[in-house]
Amino acid sequence: MPPHGVSKGASIPKLPVSVARPSRVSQALAVGTSSPEEVVKQYLEELKTPPADEGCIICMEKLGAPSGYSDVCESKATRPESVGRLSKCGHTFHLLCMLAMYTSGNKDGSLQCPSCKTIYGEKTGTQPSGKMDVSVLRDSLPGHEDCGSIQIAYSIHKGIQGPEHPSPGQPYTARGFPRYCYLPDNEKGRKVLQLLRVAWKRRLIFTVGTSSTTGESNTVVWNEIHHKTEMNSNVSGHGYPDPNYLDNVLAELAAQGVTEDCLRG
Ligand SMILES: [Zn+2]
Ligand SMILES: [Zn+2]
Repeated sequence: MPPHGVSKGASIPKLPVSVARPSRVSQALAVGTSSPEEVVKQYLEELKTPPADEGCIICMEKLGAPSGYSDVCESKATRPESVGRLSKCGHTFHLLCMLAMYTSGNKDGSLQCPSCKTIYGEKTGTQPSGKMDVSVLRDSLPGHEDCGSIQIAYSIHKGIQGPEHPSPGQPYTARGFPRYCYLPDNEKGRKVLQLLRVAWKRRLIFTVGTSSTTGESNTVVWNEIHHKTEMNSNVSGHGYPDPNYLDNVLAELAAQGVTEDCLRG
């Protein structure tokens, strides 16, 4: 799945970053207290002398030329020539291109660098509402014989898609729920559990999309944070033993902006 939602604008070929062309309707649906312009201004510093020969990877134009999105993304506050630099990673883009990218997403007040994926603010997803239940089991997982295990049960029911989903107003299905997942009940496993709780709250564990196993569209699917759904074997590749699993899932959580820092304070 493209990182910034479904591309509806195929008119610019070879676009490496998927930006749905924002309509006035989608801009009017913007939620939150900060306007899209304020969010972009919060994380990018406008450059007085942009590196004119470098390219903007959102629109593929040179930074010395106006934004390729100036015809579809109108903004009184942002000129098509304006270039900004992201504060942490230092990557540069047209401010209007960033605005188009932000407006095509779920407008949660966070931005993600399309070059290096650094997250600014708190990234949230589009997971439908549901329940996450945790229980502790005495049984061990293969490869973690020295401790018991943690069972997570995710429950999501079918429903109607919201404005943040691929087909707003249409129904979505929810197959195979509750889905049971397993972690070793040791220090690292419990840390992963805490971070998964944060990811759940931020609606990052599932999304509505097309199932890669069945091809069904408009259904609840996993969202880039892998879970172990098999307890006593690893026939599917989604089970134990897997000595790298906890490190891999920590990296996947970090890629969504969920790190140990989220557990402090
Ligand atoms: Zn651009
Ligand atoms: Zn970056």
